[in-house]
Amino acid sequence: MNPLCTLALAAARATLVAACLSGSAQAAPRIALTMDDGPHLRATPRLSPLARNEALLAALRKHQVQATLFVTCGNGADRPDGLALVKAWSDAGHLLGNHTMTHPDLNSPQVSLEQYQDEIERCQQILAGQPGLQRWFRFTFLREGKPEARRDGMRAWMKARGWRNAYVSLDTSDWRLDAYLEERLARDPAADVGDIRRAYLDHLWQRAQAYQQLAMRLQGREIPQVLLMHHNLLNALFLDDAIAMFKARGWGFVSAAEAYEDPVYQLQPISPVAGQSLLLSMARSLGLGRFEGWSRLVDDGDFEIEQLEKGPAPAPR
Ligand SMILES: [Zn+2]
Repeated sequence: MNPLCTLALAAARATLVAACLSGSAQAAPRIALTMDDGPHLRATPRLSPLARNEALLAALRKHQVQATLFVTCGNGADRPDGLALVKAWSDAGHLLGNHTMTHPDLNSPQVSLEQYQDEIERCQQILAGQPGLQRWFRFTFLREGKPEARRDGMRAWMKARGWRNAYVSLDTSDWRLDAYLEERLARDPAADVGDIRRAYLDHLWQRAQAYQQLAMRLQGREIPQVLLMHHNLLNALFLDDAIAMFKARGWGFVSAAEAYEDPVYQLQPISPVAGQSLLLSMARSLGLGRFEGWSRLVDDGDFEIEQLEKGPAPAPR
């Protein structure tokens, strides 16, 4: 049992005891699935845009997972055929969030705060009327703006207009493995991609465990993790396997709405360069520096790509 719970039981403080008992009864890790940058209308070496969208929705339907799609409207939702793909998510009971029109970088001096905010408002107008639409904003590149005056300007603007910062806690480099997958399939659309599937699942599991440990270190408890994935070919092919893996290993899926009820998602880290995973940003704000396991959380999937390049290990003789 958590040492704090042991203390509470010893002190017989009824409310704490109740919290400890209910906490121990729901020990399974919880995870909310969020997907950025979609829907994309661009061509990929396998599957049409519609087929990719349907594959993602089919995996979610099969596992009865309610996900959140953070729409980058300029990737397709600003055209009727792309908006139809968004509508399919909303009609299936998923939630929708906002991820700008063209995915600008708020840390770039070439992008003004006003321009960035205008992109959010224009995308929200395109999505208006979809039943699943929330007033949730996911920062592009998970960058919240620098210098600090810009970060604070954005925070004040969001607060005044009722926007939630739709934080990620469990950041992944699925985008990197997706690029690797597309490169291989561009050379040969029929190529075997079983090794990329395995590398992706290993990557997800490594990151999940690392962020679970970081939450314990920072909060002294499990938090409902908010997982970042992208609307891409990699997930169209392997999302079913990814969800199945988490479930088989005892993780329970919740909606992002439920995850965001946790008070940790109200925090605003004071790191001069806020962004990336909320947990990493908190660690930096607390001056934890390069804690054990840090490098694998910020390597953009380099480890997995190197392993893939090496090919399978030789069979033991
Ligand atoms: Zn993005």
